Amino acid sequence: MSREDYEIVIGLEVHAELSTKTKIFCSCKTAFGGAPNTQVCPICMAMPGTLPVLNEKVVEYAVKAGLATNCEIERNSKNDRKNYFYPDLPKSYQISQYDKPLCIGGNIEIETSNGTKKIGITRIHIEEDAGKLNHDDLGGGSLVDLNRAGVPLIEIVSEPDMRSAEEAEHYLRKLKSILEYIEVSDCKMEEGSLRADVNVSVHKKGEAFGQRTEMKNMNSFRSIVRAIDYEANRQIDVIEAGGEIVQETLRWDEVSGKTFPMRDKENAQDYRYFPDPDLVAIKLSEEYIEHIKNSLPELPESRKKRYLEEYKLSEKDAKIITSSKYLSDLFEQAGEISENIKAVGNWIISDISRILNETETDPIAIPFDAKQLAELVMLIDKGTINSSIGKKVLEELFENPRSPEEIIKEKGWIQISDEGAIKEVVLKVLEANPQSVADYKAGKDRALGFLVGQAMKETKGKANPQMLNKMFVEEMKK
Ligand code: ADP
Ligand code: ZN
Ligand code: MG
Repeated sequence: MSREDYEIVIGLEVHAELSTKTKIFCSCKTAFGGAPNTQVCPICMAMPGTLPVLNEKVVEYAVKAGLATNCEIERNSKNDRKNYFYPDLPKSYQISQYDKPLCIGGNIEIETSNGTKKIGITRIHIEEDAGKLNHDDLGGGSLVDLNRAGVPLIEIVSEPDMRSAEEAEHYLRKLKSILEYIEVSDCKMEEGSLRADVNVSVHKKGEAFGQRTEMKNMNSFRSIVRAIDYEANRQIDVIEAGGEIVQETLRWDEVSGKTFPMRDKENAQDYRYFPDPDLVAIKLSEEYIEHIKNSLPELPESRKKRYLEEYKLSEKDAKIITSSKYLSDLFEQAGEISENIKAVGNWIISDISRILNETETDPIAIPFDAKQLAELVMLIDKGTINSSIGKKVLEELFENPRSPEEIIKEKGWIQISDEGAIKEVVLKVLEANPQSVADYKAGKDRALGFLVGQAMKETKGKANPQMLNKMFVEEMKK
């Protein structure tokens, strides 16, 4: 049989760190990047005799996420202990939720190359993050940092509804964008705020689902896509060779582009879940849920619709801009300051998106702000610079963000719009290119473009292109 006879099945378990100020069961700070063990207390270090108290914001954020993904919110929920030993888990159990998660039965709509598709969400539950082990290069061994221990997480478990790496990527992007819009997580994948366990299986079309393998803690779109493609092909090869897939946890190796079985206890774990006796049940009233529902901000879908109507953007452009709350806010804010939202949109769709793609940068990491982008647009509108210099200014904004006004002064990029100066260049270029002049006079309009190009070269791109065009035509008419 060939690969086309197989179907690929993917389900994701996504962990998102919530952006609450304090941890889930104590009042330690959650900020990323602090010196090791400076954001800890007896509770999150699991000292004997300490008791957890649930942070109300965590419930609120999880309910928000549930409502934004069309889940049912459970009125009666609770916390359970998930027991396992690992050095980054000081209590030797993680407080999570087992049989009564906060949210169940939702879905997210994704757009694929074959149209829209709904991906089911099995459940969303709250839990605490573990600490971090840092390898000690000097002393050998590992050092434990508990700053992350007790940082609140939601785990969003999808149904096995995806059928390709492309669909999995779309799902994760959509989920990320929703969580960013409702402001429950900063979703910084490079900081581990958003990470996915990727479950993959294959089966012959028409037959039952195959056994799945799981790749844990993946935090880049590119690796997820590569890993799914590799793993699906590997499974097909095993089956085609008469072998069987065993359910196991795999590690994706970015360098070799292959998956490897994990040696440790991750496989076939018995977590001995039971209700946490230190925490009370979570009971939510109708008013509480209703209140959160009413406080939900505008979601990407509805922003997109608004852009189509208000700004007459095309479906495709509106989709690019609203795919990230950050881009979309940048668009609206810079649009308002510059009073030229159309131009701002063009920058975002073309050059800004291109640079983000080329450098694999998440929009949230754009280093310049709306005011600086607006200033760039206004400088072009006023004719202080032309749009090709504008592109250079944009690159500067990515490199070392500062006021565009300052950049062009410092670099000497101000557009030459002085009649005398333009004329000087035009005459010089005309004299140096008699053949092009002859061509133009013989009716070859393309020669004009060449001459303008030469003049631009001469002025290092700073000449006003409209003025050049006009002056060349005038001079050659003489
Ligand atoms: P566990 O925590 O043991 O991994 P869960 O039930 O929490 O189990 O998560 C299972 C994940 O695996 C879900 O995202 C689900 O959609 C996915 N999944 C289940 N069966 C398959 C399958 N046959 N192929 C691919 N993914 C699957
Ligand atoms: Zn603490
Ligand atoms: Mg799993």
